[in-house]
Amino acid sequence: MNSIRRPLIAGNWKLFHGGLSATPLAQAVVAISRELDAVDLVLCPPFTALPLVAIACHNSRVQVGGQNLYPKDQGAFTGEVSAPMLRDVGCKWVIVGHSERRQLFGETDVGVREKTVAALAGGLIPIVCVGETLAEREAGKTLQVVERQVRAFLDVLAGHSVAIAYEPVWAIGTGKNAGPAEAEEVHAAIRSWLGDLADRTRILYGGSVKPDNAAALLGCANVDGALVGGASLDAASFGGIARAAQG
Ligand code: PEP
Repeated sequence: MNSIRRPLIAGNWKLFHGGLSATPLAQAVVAISRELDAVDLVLCPPFTALPLVAIACHNSRVQVGGQNLYPKDQGAFTGEVSAPMLRDVGCKWVIVGHSERRQLFGETDVGVREKTVAALAGGLIPIVCVGETLAEREAGKTLQVVERQVRAFLDVLAGHSVAIAYEPVWAIGTGKNAGPAEAEEVHAAIRSWLGDLADRTRILYGGSVKPDNAAALLGCANVDGALVGGASLDAASFGGIARAAQG
């Protein structure tokens, strides 16, 4: 594996730990990170906790990311947060197009592309999420859907090293996960669509990753890490996944 494709484990805290409880959780992850020198770790707390988490992670190997961004830098956009604002509070990363954003907040492929452009222009590394619903998988449309989602933003990645997270929607927060063979099939397909970017793009798996299934998923040739939801809310579980990535 080349150095750009070092394992990356990113925690998506979703709508949890938006206040003072963010600090001890981030500090516990920082403590675990001291034993893990072969894995990159990113924490994505709610916007309100970003400054606290950035302080807790300062001078450590743990980096910080936003869970979403608005594609304009500033203006009359009440309630939104931009790439420069995320940078200002210490973010290096941002999740774009999470399935909860697509499903609950109406984000489209066009919007995901726009946000990817804004993240890159603002100096953030996007973790762009793709994945099929259960109905799409059952209709045999997994690769067709994921290819459409990837091609919607592929051309804007030229010259950049980003992460793409394959997260089958039916596996997120459900306790079901794609088996290693199912995940590898989609990851290998995504890699094949990337062309010149294939060696410089980390493709993460997401969907009910836990310490006990992480090693098998992370052992797949085209799985370069994980985007972790539920299990990232507990430092020991998140650490267990990170240890599996360290090998
Ligand atoms: C996620 O939110 O990106 C996710 C994969 O959640 P979970 O690990 O809880 O399935």
